Amino acid sequence: PSKLILISFDGFRWDYLDMAHKYGFETPNFDALLANGSTVAPGGVMNSFPTKTLPNHYTIATGMYPGNHGVVHNQYLDPDDGVFFLEDDNQTLANVSFWWNNGTFDKGPYLPEFVPMPIWIANQLNQKNQESRNARRSGVMMWPGGGAPLYGEVSHVWRYFNNSVRNESRFDELVAWFVDEAAPINLGLLYINEPDLHGHKWGPTSPKLMKLVSELDALVGYLLRLLIKNNLYDDMNLIITSDHGMANITSRVILEEHLDLSTYESYGSSPVLLIWPHEGFEDAIYTKMSKVPNMSVYRKADIPAEYHYTFNRRISPLLFVADPGVSFCRTQANLGNHGYNNSWNDMHPFFVAHGPAFRRNHVSPQFNNVDIYPMMCKVLGIEPGPNDG
Ligand SMILES: [Zn+2]
Repeated sequence: PSKLILISFDGFRWDYLDMAHKYGFETPNFDALLANGSTVAPGGVMNSFPTKTLPNHYTIATGMYPGNHGVVHNQYLDPDDGVFFLEDDNQTLANVSFWWNNGTFDKGPYLPEFVPMPIWIANQLNQKNQESRNARRSGVMMWPGGGAPLYGEVSHVWRYFNNSVRNESRFDELVAWFVDEAAPINLGLLYINEPDLHGHKWGPTSPKLMKLVSELDALVGYLLRLLIKNNLYDDMNLIITSDHGMANITSRVILEEHLDLSTYESYGSSPVLLIWPHEGFEDAIYTKMSKVPNMSVYRKADIPAEYHYTFNRRISPLLFVADPGVSFCRTQANLGNHGYNNSWNDMHPFFVAHGPAFRRNHVSPQFNNVDIYPMMCKVLGIEPGPNDG
């Protein structure tokens, strides 16, 4: 079967390479992939609301909007089943199906229409259906949800997110999976948590961050050499993309100045908060916050249709969304953040695709990140699961 590697550099904004060049840093490996592969027009990939890490990684993997695949934020409350919180605790939830199947065993009012079928599951299921002699196996290196059994299937090999593992070692192991003699994989996913981490700290326009971008370029070079060394380069399809961009924080809305914090529970994080008002407080909170500048408050039924963020019981009765560049954090050392309206350019990620399945030196018009999944299925020659692409 055809081979594919999907890599995400968390928080890699669409224009970071240009910005790095402006600051005098070189990115020869990215440049070579772009020259010999396909990318997206200036403005980057249109990602999905909210432009946060877990929702968008799972959107890339499933082709479903966050409101549909059910990972509606990095942290959220499922009214039937408790609090999902992965940011600091990947170890415990990455392999628990419930959080990755859109709450299929639903007791609430919003019955899901379909169960997400991540690309690593779709790849292996196709094998079973085809009874092909060319085995299809998937390997998931730290990609969110990579260990969760779905459709009775679990990825052949996978690793929890573990920041103490060096990036080079993550690539070493991923490539080793492809050349395993007994049971090689044909699809590999890999997650790198930079430049997001330092993009938050330093802001997206910092020269220090552009130096880090040039270091990530060196990491891409490391991967390309590994592929060549293992005779994988010529027939490997490679996609490098990201979940979201990054924006400078320019002002704040302090909720305590407007609300009694004991009248509601809040989940998620700035700039998008899932607000569960206590009994009897919903109207008062809505009315009050409607008048506060630099943010929007939505009742669940009025969330803009283009967010595709309504039909899931994990979406709260009220939603607070800060305007571009505005933060809900009272004190925050960070200079950068993301999560805002997905039509804002600063939120859009980078994309490049390279290999036998992709055109060379090609620039595609802007596409949505729900379209990456059906494209990957085409590259792999498999039937996609249900999706929004
Ligand atoms: Zn982030």
